Amino acid sequence: MNKKLREFLTSTIFIKDIKCLFCGKELDKDSRYCVCDECLLSLPFLDTKVCKKCGEPIKSQARYCMRCKNHVDRGFDKARAVFLYAGKIKDVIINLKYFGNKYYAEYLSNFLFDLYQKENFSADVVIPAPISKKSFKTRGFNQAELLCDSFAKNGIEVNCTCVQKVLETQNQVKLDFKDRQTNLIGAFKVVDKNAVKNKNVLIVDDIFTTGATVCEIAGVLKKAGAKNVDVLTLCHQMPDGVTN
Ligand SMILES: [Zn+2]
Ligand SMILES: [Zn+2]
Repeated sequence: MNKKLREFLTSTIFIKDIKCLFCGKELDKDSRYCVCDECLLSLPFLDTKVCKKCGEPIKSQARYCMRCKNHVDRGFDKARAVFLYAGKIKDVIINLKYFGNKYYAEYLSNFLFDLYQKENFSADVVIPAPISKKSFKTRGFNQAELLCDSFAKNGIEVNCTCVQKVLETQNQVKLDFKDRQTNLIGAFKVVDKNAVKNKNVLIVDDIFTTGATVCEIAGVLKKAGAKNVDVLTLCHQMPDGVTN
């Protein structure tokens, strides 16, 4: 095929309808993140200084945020997030979760996998944060499961069944960390301990809000014999007092 014809076909047929996830602009080529150059530059990457344990952005010289410094039990060993929960990424997550744009997750998952490599995480098994049966029925999918796509593609085991959310909990939106923790006691259960025993486990979720959910899941995983439990989320909530 001559070069001009091939270029014509590539530009008009094969890449038709590939649009930036964040602004809807048509892209002239498919990309790892399905994002246009302008949006990529404007995304709120969490690349400032963060707490060594939980990934909370910190401005001081301290190594840890106040909560981790005061040894509040976090359950997990280390948590990191790709973005702050703000701006365009916030809209995209809402579109994924509540408007059923499931294919977004395939691309967003690449952001997670790239951070996994950059931060030198090493997992024997990846576990998406489970949602209750009722939420699954309402939404039709678990967004955390979809966000594990790139791990499975890269040959890392993803186990979506060994931890289950066995209690329906009240909506956490208006609760603080302590109340969220209380609200979640007994909510998660490891139903297959052999899947995690003596293993390095990575929990994947969409948003790290107060961290109460992943703390509780990490706690039950450690009780079931997991050696190490790390957490990777797409977003971390904005630091206290900052709005967007
Ligand atoms: Zn864009
Ligand atoms: Zn911290």
